[in-house]
Amino acid sequence: MSEPSLPELIARTRATLEKIAAAYSPAVFASSLAAEDMVLTDLILRHQLPIGIFTLETGRLHPETLAMIDRIKATYGYDVTPYQPQPEAVSQYVKSHGLNGFYDSVEARKECCHIRKIEPLNRALAGNRSWVTGQRRAQSVTRAALDVQENDPAHNMVKFNPLADWSEENVWQYLRDHEVPYNPLHDQGYPSIGCAPCTRAIEPGEDVRAGRWWWENPDSKECGLHVVDGKLIRIKSQSADAS
Ligand code: SF4
Repeated sequence: MSEPSLPELIARTRATLEKIAAAYSPAVFASSLAAEDMVLTDLILRHQLPIGIFTLETGRLHPETLAMIDRIKATYGYDVTPYQPQPEAVSQYVKSHGLNGFYDSVEARKECCHIRKIEPLNRALAGNRSWVTGQRRAQSVTRAALDVQENDPAHNMVKFNPLADWSEENVWQYLRDHEVPYNPLHDQGYPSIGCAPCTRAIEPGEDVRAGRWWWENPDSKECGLHVVDGKLIRIKSQSADAS
């Protein structure tokens, strides 16, 4: 079977977003302000779809990533809603583990991700019926089974990954064709962008997510939003992250 063309993918993705807005409202899009997320941001705002856009402002993002909030405002006149961690939880973590204690163990890293991402994500999702991510199947081994529509029992919601079928080239062709602003770190060897201390540039030929939590085993490289009962899960019926 031949790969779908970009116009086909765009039409399909727009139809998915329209379905979400019509039948799964209230709906929110968890944007990490990376290239994929800018495709969805453009489609949602260009077509004025009633899907709210938020980002997890972890307190450890690159300045270039934070600047994307202002660039979205300048381009579309839209205010992305930032969700920040609870200050007391951050203070307690820093006291117990140190500011960068996440390098010491997978557990300490997941605890940091819980405080800075998962708890704020839960707050951002509360009261909504569905949520949307920019995840793609080709991004990593942990995303290989991603479906466009999944049940998310952890949040008791429906979760949509409208770009599940898109290739990296599809994403960049869309951004070029529609002159969509994107994070300049992508031009500096960062195909996948998360918190600054946990993201590095990659070498040509490396996996696109190799720069995320690069000191860990690839099979444990998610921020914990996929973890159910302590196990990393990437199946149709489980929750996923927004990173
Ligand atoms: S990606 Fe790193 S800094 Fe960000 S929340 Fe996770 S462990 Fe903490």
